[in-house]
Amino acid sequence: MTPAAIEVRALKKSYGDFDAVKGIDLRVEQGEIFSLLGPNGAGKTTTVEILEGHRTRSSGEVTVLGHDPGEGERSYKARIGIVLQETGVERFLTVAEAIDRFRGFYPNPRPLDEIIEVVGLQEKRNDRVRKLSGGQQRRLDVAIGLAGDPELLFLDEPTTGFDPTARRNAWEMVRNLAGLGKTVFLTTHYMDEAQHLADRVAIIVGGRIVAEGPPGSLVGDSATQTKIRFRLPPGSPPLPSAAAQASRSHDEVALRTSEPLPVLHALTEWAIENDVALQELSVSQPSLEDVYLDLTRPDHGGDP
Ligand code: ATP
Repeated sequence: MTPAAIEVRALKKSYGDFDAVKGIDLRVEQGEIFSLLGPNGAGKTTTVEILEGHRTRSSGEVTVLGHDPGEGERSYKARIGIVLQETGVERFLTVAEAIDRFRGFYPNPRPLDEIIEVVGLQEKRNDRVRKLSGGQQRRLDVAIGLAGDPELLFLDEPTTGFDPTARRNAWEMVRNLAGLGKTVFLTTHYMDEAQHLADRVAIIVGGRIVAEGPPGSLVGDSATQTKIRFRLPPGSPPLPSAAAQASRSHDEVALRTSEPLPVLHALTEWAIENDVALQELSVSQPSLEDVYLDLTRPDHGGDP
């Protein structure tokens, strides 16, 4: 079996007597896009910084590219790239000069033209950094993370503040990274981003992993089921028993079921018999966001 890019066993981190990470296991394969999701204060930054070698752990085993990040070896650090929320780049340099400057810090940098192409900054290569838009700056941050041609890239919130087009372009860029065979460890607050990009996600809540797997497999969990929604005109007769547990807010009706076919059958039959229009009827699978909201609800089992 190929060794994992990241392997974590029983990782714990306490700050004084507060347990921020309570014994988590993670395995990220080489070449995989993996996303760690969780609400504020769940333990994401703590975990990621331990993986990056920037924070010590209280106990557990951590292996990143075959090394213990806690030992801080320099040769190993050149094999990982870290893209933080803000990279301090000298703003009077051109894009090409800024990337080149960082390439100079590494023993085997990636060719400049390739980096510029992967992040899609070809047309901006001779522009000054200070003239870039927010989205272009973020691409430059990723370019700098790629300077040393790392095997593993940590991407922290890569599309925060982007407009929808810029986000789509950034997703393309992350896929390009995976196309180069890089392993990408992504933290994001956008569920659709994780759903589109990640091969696997883990959801951390209160320092524990509460779900892990390909986004599609989590979506299929019993925690959430097919959603049926519609609007009912005022004065409609009571719904059939198959839809009795539906929630209602004004004229909006929503229900979840693991057996959508019989429920839809009963509903549409009832609607035809009673001459009721099921306005804006929609049937949809839960998104990763639905699963996430379910798992991170304060009243969900386990820690808040
Ligand atoms: P966010 O989404 O808000 O960035 P997070 O999931 O990254 O949150 P962490 O920053 O890892 O969460 O924090 C986890 C918990 O540990 C929080 O309750 C936080 O207050 C606590 N914590 C983090 N760093 C420290 C520290 N240096 N000293 C004490 N407590 C800390």
